[in-house]
Amino acid sequence: MARNRFFIDHIQEEAALTGDEFRHAKNVLRLKEGSEVTLLDGSGAEYSAIVTKVERDRILLHVLQKTDTDREPKTEVFLLVGALKGDKTELVVQKAVELGVSKIGVFSSRYCAAYMNENKLERLNRVSREAAKQCMRQIAPPVVYFENYQDALKSANGYQNKLFACEFLEQSEEGLNGLNGPCALVVGSEGGFSEEEFALAKSLGFRGVSLGRRILRAETAAIALLSVVMYELGELK
Ligand code: SAH
Repeated sequence: MARNRFFIDHIQEEAALTGDEFRHAKNVLRLKEGSEVTLLDGSGAEYSAIVTKVERDRILLHVLQKTDTDREPKTEVFLLVGALKGDKTELVVQKAVELGVSKIGVFSSRYCAAYMNENKLERLNRVSREAAKQCMRQIAPPVVYFENYQDALKSANGYQNKLFACEFLEQSEEGLNGLNGPCALVVGSEGGFSEEEFALAKSLGFRGVSLGRRILRAETAAIALLSVVMYELGELK
């Protein structure tokens, strides 16, 4: 069985689990002295460690060695998705992390009906961490929020491929075959995009992509587009 994985800030020879990671390790996983675990510091490295002591508010660990597993994607993919209702954004974050996304931006746009606050954003980042652990990644992709649609689009400046999933496009302006290099992907919320929003994206260098003649739900569109892009980038082999 795979070892339990924990994110901690600094990894030294002697490390400690505190806060949420501590509570989960103690109350849910019931780690004991001698349990072997994997520690992640978000740098992309992974370490094996052994529990030396379970205290009232922390678990002490002795770091054994750095292991050289690498499950991180080679190409950077940034997914921007409109804020979705209920727990749909969480679903997209979870699946996107599993598929190998590097970063996720959630944005508000004209026909967007969902709202965002500090708690929701913190929750999305927690979902990212849990998904990263579950699929054995070394990094938990950060989830950031853009109140302003234009700021969201501009955050993709510098990406070699900027693709915009547009539900009212007859045909893709850009094929996805043989895609390579860093990608930024934009997918709308349940309400979709306005013509003006698409025009703004185009003026900022995005190319419209059609996902076929059927209108997909936002979460389906995000997962489908990301899957195809990851496949073309050679990340699903
Ligand atoms: N309310 C809109 C549909 C929004 S679908 C309507 O009734 O037309 C939510 C998002 O998923 C869209 O903004 C788009 O980014 C993506 N999407 C869904 N189907 C798509 C398709 N066939 N092609 C490209 N993008 C699509």
